[in-house]
Amino acid sequence: MPAVSEFRAGDAVTPRHDWTRTEVEALLDLPLPELLFRAASVHRQSFDPAEVQISTLLSVKTGGCPEDCAYCPQAQRYDTGVDAQKLMETEAVLEKARQAKAAGASRFCMGAAWRSPKDRDIPKVAAMIAGVKSLGLETCATLGMLSGDQAQALKDAGLDYYNHNIDTDPEHYGSIIRTRELQDRFDTLGHVRDAGLKTCCGGIVGMGETRRQRAGFLQTLATMPAHPDSVPINRLVQVEGTPLHGTAELDPFEFVRTIAVARLLMPKSMVRLSAGREQMSDELQALCFSAGANSIFHGEKLLTTGNPDVAHDQALFDRLGLRVMEVTVDAEGHDHGGTVHADIVGQPRSCVA
Ligand code: SF4
Repeated sequence: MPAVSEFRAGDAVTPRHDWTRTEVEALLDLPLPELLFRAASVHRQSFDPAEVQISTLLSVKTGGCPEDCAYCPQAQRYDTGVDAQKLMETEAVLEKARQAKAAGASRFCMGAAWRSPKDRDIPKVAAMIAGVKSLGLETCATLGMLSGDQAQALKDAGLDYYNHNIDTDPEHYGSIIRTRELQDRFDTLGHVRDAGLKTCCGGIVGMGETRRQRAGFLQTLATMPAHPDSVPINRLVQVEGTPLHGTAELDPFEFVRTIAVARLLMPKSMVRLSAGREQMSDELQALCFSAGANSIFHGEKLLTTGNPDVAHDQALFDRLGLRVMEVTVDAEGHDHGGTVHADIVGQPRSCVA
């Protein structure tokens, strides 16, 4: 990547893993038209900018989580009106997966509000994964922290992607979560990579962080041993009863800048518009696609918060001339798409978000 002042469209982009916070901050500080130009130029080198990948996210086990993530309505310690439910039955999950496929999804993501799965949960989740895979969908899960053996068992069941987010900048992390360390998250991501799973890892912006801290968040993602295959960027959905309810709203242009810099730092990753889309105007979403976002969650619910409905998304794609990215899964479960793809996350919860 050329220095901040030297970029020209057509400059070849080689993914880097040595970004400094100062460099990332300089990108975030660029005049917005210049930043959009650079991000759009880089986007075209690895992807068709008219294609957007679609995933559907299902909460297979909602609420009652013992963690304290300050944005999350599924934390049992906050009074948010989300009732704890048991793990869904496999057949009910498969019915939702069939509906998602019929609505155009290529990947089906299953989220459970656990600190980490118990070993006795793994065979039940493995059965869901194997069933979803047999429908010809890519599979993704977000279940909290994993051991190495658990990651391997999920891989053996046919899991393609695992979502586990870092949430925010290391400096800001302790203001948002106190029941697990950032290192715990890095450890899980290491187990996921070691098992041969694709990684989905991002976070949430609009949680009261500064621009410098957004730079630190993006720099942390871009300096991992491997860039996440998918980078979900969530915009905080403020839920009454959570500690972050009432946080000052993030300027929408700051969200666009975050998307654009994620695209510049991780040029071959899928950059996903995740939670918070329901609160975004069509114009803001269009700017995000122009800034390099190329994946969305599709469907009525994003875990426990709303998501734009399928018909509205289709109408928006038509107005913008966007196409759904085709992904096919062969008999051996290998996926084939136009490009690199990966992802999953939603919010409010960051074992997914
Ligand atoms: S984000 Fe995940 S780990 Fe945190 S409280 Fe919500 S469900 Fe639990």
